Amino acid sequence: MERHNCPNCGAPISSTQCPYCGTVFYDFTVMDFDKPTYIQIHHNGQYIVFRALARSMNVNMRPDEYDYYADNSVYEQISSRAMDVTIDFSVLPDDEGVLVKRKDISNEIREG
Ligand SMILES: [Zn+2]
Repeated sequence: MERHNCPNCGAPISSTQCPYCGTVFYDFTVMDFDKPTYIQIHHNGQYIVFRALARSMNVNMRPDEYDYYADNSVYEQISSRAMDVTIDFSVLPDDEGVLVKRKDISNEIREG
């Protein structure tokens, strides 16, 4: 991942989690909707990893306030009290035919 600034505290970060404030940052702009991606999630005490293809993304923003300021130029400021983003994935088997790989986290902690 490219180096960027934490959207929460502004600190420079180079991973998906800010080492200063702990904010997790997912950059979906790197995702190609035509190519499968791998996703890891924490589910029922395990890490599970699967290959997935994004089917669709839906952004639903309900703006409820428009303010116009006219000085030298006109700016439109939109504030919204509600916004939903939904990304649907189809889970695909990997090249070995495996649909999901899982790892028990408690074993990892004992061995580590
Ligand atoms: Zn931060």
